[in-house]
Amino acid sequence: MFDPLEFINRHIIFPIYFWKNGDKRLKRLQELEEQQYLSPELLAKLQLEKLQYIIRYAYLHTAYYRRIMDERGLKPEDIRCLSDIEKLPILTKSIIQQHSEELRSDQYEESELIQDASGGSTGEPTVFYKDYARHNLRRADQLRHDRWSGWNIGKRSALIWGANRDLKSFQSWREFIITRYIARIWELDAFELTEKKMSEFVSILERVKPVMILGYANALGQFSRYVLKNYPEHTIKLKGIISSAETLTPENRASIEKAFSCSVYNRYGSREVGLIASECKQHQGLHINADNILLEIVEGNHSIERGKTGNIVVTDFSNKGMPLIRYQLGDRGALAVESCRCAINLPLLERIEGRSSDFILNKSGKLIHGEYFTHLFYGLQEIKKFQLIQHSLDTLELKLVAIENDSINQALKNIKDKIRKIMEDDVDIDVSFLTDIAPSPSGKFLFTLSKIHS
Ligand SMILES: [Zn+2]
Repeated sequence: MFDPLEFINRHIIFPIYFWKNGDKRLKRLQELEEQQYLSPELLAKLQLEKLQYIIRYAYLHTAYYRRIMDERGLKPEDIRCLSDIEKLPILTKSIIQQHSEELRSDQYEESELIQDASGGSTGEPTVFYKDYARHNLRRADQLRHDRWSGWNIGKRSALIWGANRDLKSFQSWREFIITRYIARIWELDAFELTEKKMSEFVSILERVKPVMILGYANALGQFSRYVLKNYPEHTIKLKGIISSAETLTPENRASIEKAFSCSVYNRYGSREVGLIASECKQHQGLHINADNILLEIVEGNHSIERGKTGNIVVTDFSNKGMPLIRYQLGDRGALAVESCRCAINLPLLERIEGRSSDFILNKSGKLIHGEYFTHLFYGLQEIKKFQLIQHSLDTLELKLVAIENDSINQALKNIKDKIRKIMEDDVDIDVSFLTDIAPSPSGKFLFTLSKIHS
């Protein structure tokens, strides 16, 4: 059915808004949509040009890369093919934690950059920076990959996401207007999923009629089970659902597809390097965002063959504010041996063993998403790693790898107050300081772990 508002938004409001603000994401989207069909040879050529550019930039403008390349007797011109990237070492979260200033470009004042933080897959809070140009251009790849789900600019979508930082509409009316009327996004706070909120969201989705929902995998799974049980006759009609931010289990995928009778598109990304890979309509694996990043699967310092599982390492081609070259995310994965049946030529990531967390349950039955707790540790340089374990409704254990000092004690007091507030109860929080936190026997690290429900 023709929707005049969709037409006006796509062809007038959306382009004019971004043009007026000097934001080139639509022009970039056009380029990206052409690039997704490049032959593997041309794509590799483009990647090499971009890799050489960012390595040269990092060498000239960051103390860290200048130092480590000089130590190895390396010059930017020594990067002659993609595999030459192995001449550079892996960048870990702990290196970023220790050398944040050295990694920042001398071309920007700190105030000119966007400061962001991530808990990552291993519960290691890491502060990093990105420049505004990179931030805006990388929004274009999200538009490209969102369109694979059947959504398009001008069409309505919904978000089931963490509220306090990412859902910017909560920050100001201006942001709210942009989100609702320019981007046409409706939001549900995934941090606190209650039956009342989920019921209200069903009504909103039925009224607003978005074509796509994007959300945390576990929150979408929970919401879908609620819908199946309470609203089996709902009238929500979607073209696709994009699951992101954490590992999509086969159980959650099946439950979401059953509840909404549409395809689920798995997506993999991180706050540090943005969108990494997404499924297309074939669901044979996730197409790597290979014209914006270089993804390697490594053991130690070297790439391993397709089909074999190794550490995922990513280089962002466009973050000049803080170049991240060979950044190890803490997730494991494998490149697909076969290429996709669709026309998109971007290479495929076959599987990911990534970020995972449990919901924490409070006494009133509210499920609190693991990401909520991650966000409490953002910006605290003293905390290197954390894990929150729920032993019972009123007993939590907080494991920390941290530098113990006066400021951490004050920060911990605030964190405990926030945990007790969201738990709506004076729960016991047993804090222990450790030298490291081991993953579970399966090798999986859950930054929140609940022993009272699954
Ligand atoms: Zn495909």
